[in-house]
Amino acid sequence: MFFVPSHSRPAGVGHINVVSMTTSAHHSPDASALAGDTVIDRLVEANRRYAAGFQDPGMDARPVLRVAVVACMDARLDLHDALGLELGDCHTIRNAGGVVTDDVIRSLTISQRALGTRSVILIHHTGCGLESLTEDFRHELEDEVGQRPPWAVEAFRDVDQDVRQSMQRVRTSPFLLHTDHVRGFVFDVKQGALREIDPTG
Ligand SMILES: [Zn+2]
Repeated sequence: MFFVPSHSRPAGVGHINVVSMTTSAHHSPDASALAGDTVIDRLVEANRRYAAGFQDPGMDARPVLRVAVVACMDARLDLHDALGLELGDCHTIRNAGGVVTDDVIRSLTISQRALGTRSVILIHHTGCGLESLTEDFRHELEDEVGQRPPWAVEAFRDVDQDVRQSMQRVRTSPFLLHTDHVRGFVFDVKQGALREIDPTG
């Protein structure tokens, strides 16, 4: 519910709107097929078709381009299409906001030290749900469920500054082998274009 504002069209705010915004552009928003297990059934059925035509690409687990992408989980951001990536090219690490959390550092550390990646691209985007949240979200959760989550919301007001902070977190991590090729961008969900952020502001 907390992501409704940024993901809703101006016409209105409501649960139906959220559902329609998360519907793939390739499928009609059939409400009867969007509830509960029926969605998962649809995905499993799609996998049957996928597996029927699948051929082992014969790759190992090391990304071909030796790059890790850290990005927001936003449904409008198709990383492979937007960046011209193909199967096997990169590691993809996504969460709400594309935040460089301890767990993202964990993944990047494994990516670099065990699987050979050398560069990191960070992608935030316009209209992110985290811009409409504050750390009050944690207190609201505590009021509702009786305990406050241990994690920070990592809400932000200025997306450029948040990208800078993310670059800084990667560059200063003691666990990473390669911190010289770290670049950060904001993806415009209306234009499809990346805008690079100067790490020095
Ligand atoms: Zn986002």
